[in-house]
Amino acid sequence: PSFPPACAHRPLMDPTTFEWNFGITWAKETYLCYEVEVREGDAWVPAKEHEGFLRNEALSSLSPVLRHAELCFLRGVSDWDLDEGKQYRLTYMSWSPCPNCAPKLVEFLDENSHVTLRIFPARIHTKSRGYQDGLRNLRDAGAQLAIMTLKEHQHCWDTFVDNQGQPFRPWPNLVEHIETKSQELKDILRLRFLPPAPPSPSLPGPVSASGSPASS
Ligand SMILES: [Zn+2]
Repeated sequence: PSFPPACAHRPLMDPTTFEWNFGITWAKETYLCYEVEVREGDAWVPAKEHEGFLRNEALSSLSPVLRHAELCFLRGVSDWDLDEGKQYRLTYMSWSPCPNCAPKLVEFLDENSHVTLRIFPARIHTKSRGYQDGLRNLRDAGAQLAIMTLKEHQHCWDTFVDNQGQPFRPWPNLVEHIETKSQELKDILRLRFLPPAPPSPSLPGPVSASGSPASS
C-alpha cells in the first residue's frame, strides 16, 4: 500500500481527537504534538525523524503510573540522546504544563543547555494551585510560552492530523478563545505576587550598614 507523504514515517491523529484536544472544550486526555529542529549555521533545520505526537498515560494494567503528556515527552527526548555538541530547539503544542510538570521542564532546561524549548498551549491548565508560578518559572528558565494561534492550529492540522487533504477550518469561537487565553497568559507572565505589605506604615526608614539612616 502507498501512504501519503505525511504517513510514511509516523501515524496521524484523527480530526476529532485534534478538535477535542486543541479546540475550546475540556478534554479528558491530553495530546502533545512535538517537533525538533537542529541549528545549522544561521538556520533551524527540522529533524523530521523526531516529530510526532503522544498522549498522556492514564492508569491502566499496562501503565501503573499516571504520567502527564509533558513527562512522556521528556522521557522520549532523553531516549533520543541528542548530541551535546549541537543546538536543538524543541517545540510542542499541547496544554500549558501543570504545576507538577513545570518544575520538571525547568530541571530539564537547566540540565540541557544545548536545548531550547518553545511551548504553544491551546489552553491553560488552571485546575491545580500554583499553575501561574509554574509558568513564570518556566519562562524564567528560558522557555518561550505563547498560546496557539490560528497559525499553529493550521500547522498542526497540516502536519499531524489525518486531514484527508482538507484545509483547516477554525471551529466556532476559536478566534475569541485564542484572544482570551493569550491575554490570560500575558497577565500571568506579567504579574509576580508581591510580598505582603509591612504591618505598620510608621516603620523607620532604611538604615545603612553603619547604623545611621541611609541618605539618598
Ligand atoms: Zn502535568
